[in-house]
Amino acid sequence: MSEFRLFNTLTRRVEPFQPADGRTVRLYACGPTVYNPAHLGNFRTFLFEDLMRRAMRLYGWDVMQVMNLTDVDDKIIRKAAANGQSITEVTEPFTDLFHQDRRYLRIQDAEVYPKATEHIPEMIALVETLVANGTAYVGEDGSVYFAIDRFADYGRLSQLDKREIKTGARVAQDEYTKENAQDFALWKAAKPEDEATGAAWDSPWGRGRPGWHLECSAMAMKYLGETLDLHAGGIDLIFPHHEDEIAQSEAATGKPFARCWCHGEFLLTDGAKMAKRVGNVATVVDLRAQGIDGAVYRHFVFNAHYRKQLNLLDDSLAQSQAAVRRIGTFARRLAVASGGTPALGDAAQRAEAAFRAALFDDLNAPEALAALFTFISDANRELDAAGDDVAALAEAQRVFGVIDGVLDLVPADAETDAELAAWVEERLGARKAARAARDFAAADAIRAELVARGVTIEDSAAGTTWRAG
Ligand code: AMP
Ligand code: ZN
Repeated sequence: MSEFRLFNTLTRRVEPFQPADGRTVRLYACGPTVYNPAHLGNFRTFLFEDLMRRAMRLYGWDVMQVMNLTDVDDKIIRKAAANGQSITEVTEPFTDLFHQDRRYLRIQDAEVYPKATEHIPEMIALVETLVANGTAYVGEDGSVYFAIDRFADYGRLSQLDKREIKTGARVAQDEYTKENAQDFALWKAAKPEDEATGAAWDSPWGRGRPGWHLECSAMAMKYLGETLDLHAGGIDLIFPHHEDEIAQSEAATGKPFARCWCHGEFLLTDGAKMAKRVGNVATVVDLRAQGIDGAVYRHFVFNAHYRKQLNLLDDSLAQSQAAVRRIGTFARRLAVASGGTPALGDAAQRAEAAFRAALFDDLNAPEALAALFTFISDANRELDAAGDDVAALAEAQRVFGVIDGVLDLVPADAETDAELAAWVEERLGARKAARAARDFAAADAIRAELVARGVTIEDSAAGTTWRAG
């Protein structure tokens, strides 16, 4: 079998990947900050991770995936304080919404969804280790900082120019740019608004709360061990978030934190990064309101390689809608067919080989989709020939199952749509025959049957057309 290859941000190269134990991929994916609805940009990243996990399982590995839920951070506290709420009151409804939304997009469950607020003791223990070995220090404000000049590898992941590092300068907020790489807060001394919102805990350094970066290190190592196989996230997390995760984890354990790092590119809308602060966000709730199936957004995302920017335009989803409809119609046709031709079996085998090769080569979903559509064209042609090769049909059904098990693009209404279409076509055929035999009573009875199921038919010189509803 071919190798499984991934682009590793650490080396900036596509490399062979395999789990350290050869069996189970220990995967950590940074999850949402649950203070507002995750937008379709966030879900582009979560879908890339869903594709990754499904591809790995197809390859034959087990996956142990951890996705954290950030339920304490600067933004959550700011919102809770403004609303006079606790952080839990802010985060609970958005945690529920996140799970609803991801199910709508058919994103498989991770094995664990740890919450930051439920892992404070693990975070404190990690900071204690760093203070004890001298890579962290307590500032005069009572916060604990990581000394980036004590960690020789600082900046390796983001290829930070070392000259930019400001020794001794400190930054307390969770997000900052490469231009001011500074000692960052592991533990933040409590402010009145932290206490007021329930975001403060006892620690050896007094009341305080964890920094965002620390949350991920502590939870990743708790569930996956000191060296993960793979750590994934959106490209904006490379600096400072992942750089800081590496620094504080490796300074504590002396071991590599993750063997491979993968980052997905941004979703844009009309050329700008989809982001809350730009005000151009669309959500899963919007998709549902427009009756757009989760499969449609999956198709749109998978139709671009995860390392390329993807622009959501007005007509993007309409194109994906047509594509998934075609897949759904094919799924139904394949399910009800009674036989195929030998060439159908050959087409299936070609499709499976092309699909696997594309997917295992750095998750090339656009090529995997191309393999699926080639298969659909070839198979439709063979099914038109109405052969009686049952084994070939079974092979085609199996291969479609393999592909669908990863891409998951059959729209939920495809079954009913296709079933209805088959029934209408059959009834229209019977009506035509009745009319040809001048049995108008039978023809009218059939029209009534169609109308009763909400089907409108129109006769013209060119023939009969119909529509549902
Ligand atoms: P957050 O809730 O802001 O921590 O983001 C959750 C995930 O979404 C992270 O992996 C981000 O990198 C990712 N993300 C944020 N905005 C976008 C975007 N416009 N396109 C793709 N991924 C994004
Ligand atoms: Zn993280």
